[in-house]
Amino acid sequence: MGLVETQAIVLQTYKLADADKIVLCMTEKSGLVRGVARGARRLKSKFGASLEPFTLIHLTFFEKETRELVTIKGAEIVKSYFQASGSPEAFEGLVYILELVKEFAPPHHADERLFKMLRACVDFLAGQPARAASVSTYTELWTLRLTGFLPEFKTCGGCGVPLGESFRGQRYISHEGVLWCQDCRRGGAQPLCAEAYMLLSSTRQRGPAAWSESFEEAGEESRRVVSETARRLVRRALEREPRAGKASGAKI
Ligand SMILES: [Zn+2]
Repeated sequence: MGLVETQAIVLQTYKLADADKIVLCMTEKSGLVRGVARGARRLKSKFGASLEPFTLIHLTFFEKETRELVTIKGAEIVKSYFQASGSPEAFEGLVYILELVKEFAPPHHADERLFKMLRACVDFLAGQPARAASVSTYTELWTLRLTGFLPEFKTCGGCGVPLGESFRGQRYISHEGVLWCQDCRRGGAQPLCAEAYMLLSSTRQRGPAAWSESFEEAGEESRRVVSETARRLVRRALEREPRAGKASGAKI
């Protein structure tokens, strides 16, 4: 409570009254924060350009225990991705990534890892618009993991046998994303090849650049299974489709 200084990424802005703006940000220190920026829509406002979506800012805000809406006191641009959003692929990918964080991050709950994941994905995607599809899938898996919606991929959901890299049998994945060994698999489970398993279970060890490279190098079937699984788990967690469309990419 009180005055907070933190890095933040602007997710969305809304008009409020004549000259004010409501700004939704993912912050490093306070999680998802909604704030009012007085005078931000005036021509000579010191906030003006910094409080736009796709901008990494240094944010100062005042928080009161009794109010959900914080008061934005200052915002300086650290890096703007506005230029990158001019490319249709990057724009689509960025909108989807921001949407996921907006949907999943609980308000005022600090999660440094979620902020760092978002910052790394936005930064990578802005420089590599062609990777929009793989970075979107990577962000889905990370967001699901950090908010508790990603199933455990280490062991069989039936008998508990370890399914890690040294497992030599056939792995299966259920509609809900539960992994099974051959003996425990149930109706509707589809086979999960070693390559797809590695992609699903390696987001913790790999940053967006390395993960998306493995994804691009993987076979078409692995990419399809991983992308569809991530998407299906997002839909299940939200109990509906996300509002923004997922970047499809040319290859899938
Ligand atoms: Zn089993």
